Amino acid sequence: MHAHDPKLSANTSSETVLYEKRKSVFPKAVNGPFRRFKWLVMAVCLTIYWGTPWIRWDRGPYAPDQAVLIDLANRRFFMFDIEIWPHEFYFVAGLLIMAGIGLFLVTSAVGRAWCGYACPQTVWTDLFQHVDRFVDGDRNAQLRLQKAPWGPQKIAKRLFKWGIYLAISFLTGGAWIFYFADAPTLQHDFWTGNAAPVAYATTFVLTMTTFVLGGFLREQVCIYMCPWPRIQTAMLDEKSLIVTYKDWRGEPRGSLKTAMKAATPLGDCIDCLQCVAVCPTGIDIREGPQVGCITCALCIDACDKAMADVGRPRGLIDYCTLDDAEKEKQGQPATPLLKTILRPRTLVYLGVWSSIGLAMLFMLGQRARLDLSVAKDRNPEYVMLSDGAIRNAYTLKLRNMEERPRTFRIALDGLQGGAIFTDEMDAAEAGRQIEVDVPADTTQRLRVYALRPRGSEPAEFAFVMTATDRDGGTDRSETTFTTAQGNGQ
Ligand code: SF4
Ligand code: SF4
Repeated sequence: MHAHDPKLSANTSSETVLYEKRKSVFPKAVNGPFRRFKWLVMAVCLTIYWGTPWIRWDRGPYAPDQAVLIDLANRRFFMFDIEIWPHEFYFVAGLLIMAGIGLFLVTSAVGRAWCGYACPQTVWTDLFQHVDRFVDGDRNAQLRLQKAPWGPQKIAKRLFKWGIYLAISFLTGGAWIFYFADAPTLQHDFWTGNAAPVAYATTFVLTMTTFVLGGFLREQVCIYMCPWPRIQTAMLDEKSLIVTYKDWRGEPRGSLKTAMKAATPLGDCIDCLQCVAVCPTGIDIREGPQVGCITCALCIDACDKAMADVGRPRGLIDYCTLDDAEKEKQGQPATPLLKTILRPRTLVYLGVWSSIGLAMLFMLGQRARLDLSVAKDRNPEYVMLSDGAIRNAYTLKLRNMEERPRTFRIALDGLQGGAIFTDEMDAAEAGRQIEVDVPADTTQRLRVYALRPRGSEPAEFAFVMTATDRDGGTDRSETTFTTAQGNGQ
């Protein structure tokens, strides 16, 4: 694959040109099934993105009632009924791995469909290109305005258009902050000037990046900045669906007038350039597969209309694999679409993707809603009391992951003759177990002292934490008891 740059290759013989000024792209409006599908995907993506933080989810009085929330202050990630704690970050890592494999899966099945339909850069660029048409008119009017000298009318139109860009960037890009705090509260605080400075700073940065990337850089992000097209190019093979110009059917190309004068019949391409005019990245797909082609299929809509106008069959430009292109050239039937999509490579990706998903679901179902970790004091390792008893100190972290307060029983497993007590207790009250109340959704630190009689040997033992309510649940943490005779190992 190569970039759309005929000039670059033309210049390499005498002088290598490493920079070419961007040629502005003014894609023409087009209608057709793929355009309508793009509208649908845009509406669904923007609705999900914008609406998700506003979905409420009742988690009781001790947890936020926002369905999807990245709660940085409390180091939690909420997603509907799932709550991820910092020590469970592997679930987030699993989700990211699934997203990566999901992209491989989509690429293997339907080529660069992500780039063409659902990538945020594509969606925002498409949206801004519609703003261009709304303010300046369609392609030809935009070209005329571009060439026109700066005057009051052009300045007014530009300011109006950039104002709409900014409003869209603010309402969409800036809305990302609602994923990080309770959305209705943050919205109120934002407009009353009571939100945290970081909320205003983040909104500004996100608004401006959306404004610049979607409003001005547009296809340059896809062609020069984004690594994904390069990765995808490496992943595509002769069985991948790509947007293909069927040159064996279209060439030699020529307008209807040229065709009438030609000595030999021409191909189906009437050289109307509609495929180029509608392309949002400004490429000519008739030059072959290119990294600049995001497979949005708008050129298919444009060409199908051109073919319909001259009474020729649709599909001169179409989704097609390189294998099928060869077959069609030789007059053989193409592979059925389902077989193209469900090929072994796709099924392997699907298998890996769904296995990770199922494993994560299983782990989510199995995970305990409480957690215990123990850190033994190292300085001093032990204290000899006046009666000769030996005392070791520990810091316990009791994690209650339920959205309600719970009582946990902390008991000794092992440590014969040992007893435990806390700062709130007298050493005389020490026993084999204690009970602790832990508030909802909280990690509580607890200093615990273990006592053993004079002359005790070092030992290994465990603290066992058990919830006393009927839901139960238990966790344990191994540690050691140190005496003058050693460290218990
Ligand atoms: S060549 Fe066609 S499919 Fe590729 S980006 Fe341009 S319009 Fe979209
Ligand atoms: S739209 Fe179709 S007919 Fe027109 S130039 Fe492109 S390929 Fe040829």
